[in-house]
Amino acid sequence: MTPGILLIFDMDGVLVDVTDSYRQAIIQTVRHFAGFPITNSLIQDFKNQGGWNDDWALTFHIIHESGVDVGYDTVVRQFQKFFRGENGYDGLIQNERWIAKPGLFDRLSRSHRLSVFTGRLHEEAEVTLNRYAPGVFRPVIGTDDVSEPKPSPAGINRIRAGLPLKRVIYVGDTVDDARCAQAAKVSFIGVAGPQTPRRAETVQALEHLGAMAVIESINDIEAML
Ligand SMILES: [Mg+2]
Repeated sequence: MTPGILLIFDMDGVLVDVTDSYRQAIIQTVRHFAGFPITNSLIQDFKNQGGWNDDWALTFHIIHESGVDVGYDTVVRQFQKFFRGENGYDGLIQNERWIAKPGLFDRLSRSHRLSVFTGRLHEEAEVTLNRYAPGVFRPVIGTDDVSEPKPSPAGINRIRAGLPLKRVIYVGDTVDDARCAQAAKVSFIGVAGPQTPRRAETVQALEHLGAMAVIESINDIEAML
């Protein structure tokens, strides 16, 4: 039997379709403070540049660049109000869509170890993982669990440190994810869904950063292993 692979997954855009949740929270928060609409393509342009993995920082940047003088904390509070809603669960977070088809992680976990390194806060990652795939991913590392966010390899290194598996693949959808894998010296599989704005550019950017493959969905991953 071949030794298993340590598969580390990014969450947003990989395990979860966030078009109507996080990405929508960026759009609504910009409109709230700056008064104008932005498109999903604009958000994708920033993601493809790299350095904009953090949705709060990106939202603040767009508002600030438009000339509106509002503090970072105020922007984050409003973003979270849209995203989490009044009681923490009834905001845009409700619109998340779990991408994996039933059985995928059961099959993968028979031969491989599954883990998560996400730019989400640990608690926001757990809310979603407990809802759709409780107990499947160990450990789960959020952005507040490490000293440096992506593209720093801190999260990947922390997961690897506790496990003996030699072969490691990080699965992500952004330029920062690919850079994170490069910095950690592990393999990278890119995900670019058919609906990704600027899909061709995104695929090219991920390949340029060393992706061993770019797949349309996490449901296609088994053929790559
Ligand atoms: Mg992502």
